[in-house]
Amino acid sequence: MAFELPKLSYEYVALEPHIDAKTMEIHHSKHHQAYITNLNNAIAGTDAEQLTIEDICKNISKYSPAVRNNGGGHYNHSLFWQILGAPGTKPSAKLASAIDAELGGMDKLKEDFNKAAITRFGSGWAWLCVENGKLKICSTPNQDNPLMDVVTDCKGTPILGLDVWEHAYYLNYQNRRPDYCTAFWNVINWDEVSRRYESLI
Ligand code: MN
Repeated sequence: MAFELPKLSYEYVALEPHIDAKTMEIHHSKHHQAYITNLNNAIAGTDAEQLTIEDICKNISKYSPAVRNNGGGHYNHSLFWQILGAPGTKPSAKLASAIDAELGGMDKLKEDFNKAAITRFGSGWAWLCVENGKLKICSTPNQDNPLMDVVTDCKGTPILGLDVWEHAYYLNYQNRRPDYCTAFWNVINWDEVSRRYESLI
């Protein structure tokens, strides 16, 4: 079955002024759609057509670079849309206490996560993951992600991710990636991040 572009649960304008509507529209309807189209073309007629995108990522070493780039692109963006769009939400009690105990608190999480995002050279993603029941922060290049078997230095299951490809911020922020990374924290859907966290512990 072919992969399809997921609908957003909020409007493109909903993340303004932190992420502008035009960026959201192009990012979702053009960039994410292109990953899906290219992924579907790359797996046409192969066993991967029967798999979930998570299972494709977990076994990505079996597939072509096109599947790695576009399958990663589909997984990463699908997660990204879901963990955005609910300003004002807060981490659940369980997640908040894990952030305090394992990452040194919310301010330290933001500092370390933004450092991972800002220092990722070129294009990639910063992640908050769960590995063996514990929170960790790391980053991957291009459209790789922590589920992929080829990724060795950033393992785990992502519960929060930030796209630091220029297409994610250039219209509004140009070269100011740090400002985009700071603004990101205003538009997170902590209910969704908490749900993902509690499903893994
Ligand atoms: Mn993107």
